[in-house]
Amino acid sequence: MIELTRESQHALSIPTMRCFRRKNQIVFNCPECGEMHYHGIPSAGHVTFGREPTGDDNGEGHRVSHCMVEGAFPNGYILKLDPDEQAIHDDQEGRIFSLEARIARLESKVAQNFNMEEKEIIKLKEKVEDFLYATD
Ligand SMILES: [Zn+2]
Repeated sequence: MIELTRESQHALSIPTMRCFRRKNQIVFNCPECGEMHYHGIPSAGHVTFGREPTGDDNGEGHRVSHCMVEGAFPNGYILKLDPDEQAIHDDQEGRIFSLEARIARLESKVAQNFNMEEKEIIKLKEKVEDFLYATD
């Protein structure tokens, strides 16, 4: 993988996303669309896009954007694991807090009539309720 210098990252306006790890994925909550974007972390022995993972690949680095917002991140973004993000998402109350924050952001986007439908919010609210009351 090509390593970008701090200068070239800035010049290309490639933002760094603070991520956490969930299973074999590296994840962040997108500031553009409010959704979670999941990027796979190749496991040892699998060749992905021509690179041979060593098994200690943590998924960090430059990636093509998964964001559906038009024009967002034209040059992709840099994924970077963040211990604080990880702690939030490992902690149940932190996850609830983060889901609530996502709902609030989605609601404000709807208020701005920003390409987001009410049923998306209802879906997310149901997810929060599932999470809170699930007995599994
Ligand atoms: Zn996005």
